[in-house]
Amino acid sequence: MNISPDSPSGKRLKRYGVSANALRKSRVFAVAWMPVPAFTLPLPVDGSIILVHKSVLAYDAVGELADGSALAPLVHQLHHAHQRQEWGYARYLLRHLWSRLFPGGVPVHHRQVERECYLAARAVEEAYSQERIASIR
Ligand SMILES: [Zn+2]
Repeated sequence: MNISPDSPSGKRLKRYGVSANALRKSRVFAVAWMPVPAFTLPLPVDGSIILVHKSVLAYDAVGELADGSALAPLVHQLHHAHQRQEWGYARYLLRHLWSRLFPGGVPVHHRQVERECYLAARAVEEAYSQERIASIR
């Protein structure tokens, strides 16, 4: 699917720092089987393909992405899609490859290519856990 930045789904994602450009340049596909919950495949020409495991996505009654913590994996991947647009295809691949080949003892969450993505996804999870706590009180 293509998520328009002006759609309800797009607006929900943009609240967590997803750029309109990353949304315009990404195609999201829900897949039935994958070894990881979500993955970004940068395209050499322009944009990215984001694969998300079907079970990870949640939809509301009108078929838009549900406003909830299920947005987190997609927010993470759309930050990678943004990196691909900002850095270009070759630099994106090089930086990610470098980060995997030479982690330098830095945990994956703190590496330069992943830090922003993890922080954005965590912001989503924290926002919804705060709402849950508030509704309990
Ligand atoms: Zn990542």
